[in-house]
Amino acid sequence: MAQPVILVENLTKQYDRVVALKGVSFQVEEGEIFGILGPDGAGKSTLLRLLAGLDRPTSGRIQILGSPPRDPRLRGRVAYMPQVFNLYADLTVWENLQFFGHVFGRTDAREWERLLEIARLGQVRDRLAGRLSGGMKKKLVLITVLVSQPQVLILDEPNTGVDPVSRREIWDLLFEFHQQGMTILIATSYTEEAERCDRLLLLYQGRAAEVQSPQALKKPLYEKVWRVPTEVSRRHPDLSTLFVIQQRGGWSRLILRPGIPLSQALSFLQQLPTLATPEEPTLEDVLVHFQEAMHQ
Ligand code: ADP
Repeated sequence: MAQPVILVENLTKQYDRVVALKGVSFQVEEGEIFGILGPDGAGKSTLLRLLAGLDRPTSGRIQILGSPPRDPRLRGRVAYMPQVFNLYADLTVWENLQFFGHVFGRTDAREWERLLEIARLGQVRDRLAGRLSGGMKKKLVLITVLVSQPQVLILDEPNTGVDPVSRREIWDLLFEFHQQGMTILIATSYTEEAERCDRLLLLYQGRAAEVQSPQALKKPLYEKVWRVPTEVSRRHPDLSTLFVIQQRGGWSRLILRPGIPLSQALSFLQQLPTLATPEEPTLEDVLVHFQEAMHQ
């Protein structure tokens, strides 16, 4: 079997009092778009910083393309885009690209042109980076990272605070490079974004679930999610012993709690004055279910 592009074994990271990662293990295969999905504080940035070699784990092992993260052989082959990234605000879009191109020894201007075109930044090439909109800035950051033509791209929540149109354009950019064989690892707290990944690692309070595709993660929740009118859930507070209740507009979403037998839930629902309607499970339900399981 081909060696995984990223191998993480039993990774633990402890800051003074906080254990940010607790025995996390997974593998990323060549050409995958691999997502790390978890709420704020789950440990995503910590994990990515360790992968990028910016910090050392307390224990455990990481291999990227067969080498440890700080190995000089990985230079130019692995790129990392942190959440906060400083562009040169006083340089134009084109000058930023030129600058990072030279840093990485990629000096072919045709390649820079191509990146501008894919990112749809051609029209603002002479604008100062400091004057770009939030979404444009993110796209520029991404292409200054991509200018090194890495085999492996590690992205820390690239779409946080980005408007939906720019978000879609960033994904178009990622898919374009993915099609050329790039392996992409992306951390996100957006479930809608996680849907685009081939496989996902769910992370919560430093602990990880087994890696699976979004479809496979949702499968066990089929027939375990319902909706009822909000007034019904208000009149039956004991519903919350069997279900996690998520309030929506005029209705509530009920997600079966881990460890509760389905038969018990069904007989409870049958006693309600209004029929509970089955709902398609979503990745958000999966995340809620996982968090509940971690609390037990
Ligand atoms: P996420 O990226 O999923 O939001 P983080 O990796 O940033 O999560 O944080 C995970 C946990 O580790 C949090 O409780 C956070 O407060 C803690 N943490 C992160 N960095 C440090 C640090 N340098 N020192 C102390 N605690 C930290």
